Parts: sequence; structure tokens; C-alpha cells
Amino acid sequence: MTTLKITDLQVSIEADGVKKPILKGVDLTINQGEIHAVMGPNGSGKSTLAYTIAGHPRYHVDGGTIELDGEDVLAMSVDERARAGLFLAMQYPVEIPGVTVANFLRTAKTAIDGEAPAIRTWGPTLKKAMTDLKMDPAFAARNVNEGFSGGEKKRHEIVQLELLKPRFAVLDETDSGLDVDALKIVSEGVNRAHADTGLGILLITHYTRILRYIKPDFVHVFVDGKIAEEGGPELAERLESEGYDRYLTPTA
Ligand code: ADP
Ligand code: MG
Ligand code: MG
Repeated sequence: MTTLKITDLQVSIEADGVKKPILKGVDLTINQGEIHAVMGPNGSGKSTLAYTIAGHPRYHVDGGTIELDGEDVLAMSVDERARAGLFLAMQYPVEIPGVTVANFLRTAKTAIDGEAPAIRTWGPTLKKAMTDLKMDPAFAARNVNEGFSGGEKKRHEIVQLELLKPRFAVLDETDSGLDVDALKIVSEGVNRAHADTGLGILLITHYTRILRYIKPDFVHVFVDGKIAEEGGPELAERLESEGYDRYLTPTA
């Protein structure tokens, strides 16, 4: 069994030359096959956690560790993290002008597997992954994310998830900007990857809506850069009815 283990993670960013602590000691362990939801109010540091796992240079790790089966993830380059089986779907996916979806996916697959996928099987594999996500095959010839709607960007990310077969996926606000139909399609894609490969998932979301389709085993509530409470799926249900107010109101 593989495990992603985050211990006492402290992360800061520099804004206008001033160091600003964002994550203030996060402990989180995800075993293969588990789905963990990280929920919390805006600005609580959820995306910071995602970017730090992915190795974004803007986020400085001041303390703590991230380990994948005991290997030091923080010492790995972004590419090494991807090859080790970590996958990040961004809250705001970037456009890649001049690179088609088909080329992007093939290049990513080659980089992660260390060899190019067999030509004979790759075409049908790509086509199936896109059909599963109800994406028009014409998308393969378009530039990555250029002019994509919010929903199309998210579908493209889940196509990557299906093709690249990571061990752990961090999905940051995958539900944002999706209508109910797109949310269902995307969620089914995530559930398929989970069922097929025993993918471990860190599902970051402000709203409980996506948790009706993707069932978390554990729920962690993020407040001010720390986990304020954790529990099972019942915690998400309580948040759905009560919101985050109880975490934000100071208690006497
Ligand atoms: P969440 O995803 O929970 O909404 P974020 O991790 O995006 O929270 O942000 C946490 C805090 O860090 C916020 O106060 C936000 O303004 C700040 N922050 C995050 N990234 C940056 C950045 N690149 N520049 C300035 N401030 C940032
Ligand atoms: Mg499960
Ligand atoms: Mg965010």
C-alpha cells in the first residue's frame, strides 16, 4: 500500500516583499484508495496546500514534511513528483498556446511512463477517455485550455487523470463553475479512476455539492491554515446545513 503523509507542514508566501505564513502546521495522511475531502472557507489555505504538494515555486516550505512511501516529496522537482505518481488538477488551469490536447496528453504520458505509449493503442485509449468524459473528439486538435469553458477545462483534467493513472490526485475545486450535468460527468470520471486504479484522492472543495457524487472516506475542515476538525462523511453533511460560521465565530 502506498501512502502520502503530510506532517506539521508550514508554508508561507511572499507578498509585496513581506513573508506571510499561510499553512500553520498541517497533518494529513492519505492511503491508497482513500478519498479525503478538504473543506473550508475561502482564504483558509486549501489551494496553498495543493500547490505545495505540486511543488509550485511561489510557496515556501518553512517546516514539516511531505512523504510518499517515505520518500521526501519536497526534495523532488515538479517532474519527479509527477513521475512518482502525484497528480494535481488546478483550481485555475492554464492555457498552453500552440500545444494541442492530443500532443499535450501524449507528451505527459511519455514523460510519466518513461516511454512513449504504443501508437496502435494510444489513439483508441485517448478517444475512449474523451468519450467517457463526453468530450467532442474535435477537442484533441485544439490548444490546451484556449477558449475552453470552465466545464471543458475540468473535463480535460479528468481525461488526464484517466490516461496518466497517478497514485494520488489532488483535485482543487474541481466542482467550481460546473453545471449539474458536467458535475456528474466529471465526478463519474473521478470515481472510475478511483475504482480502476485505487487512486488516493485529496478533494478540495468549498461547497458540499460534489460530495453527493464523490463519497469521501474522511473530511477535514481547514480554517486559517490549519485543520480545525476532522471526521467522516457526516461532517460534510453537517457543513452542508450549518456552513463554516461556527469555526469563524470566536468562542468566549
Ligand atoms: P483557499 O484555496 O482556501 O481559498 P488559498 O490557499 O488560495 O486559500 O489562500 C490562502 C491565503 O493565502 C489567502 O489569504 C490568500 O490571499 C493568500 N495567498 C495565496 N496565494 C497567494 C499569492 N500568490 N499571492 C498573495 N496571496 C496569496
Ligand atoms: Mg474508497
Ligand atoms: Mg482555493
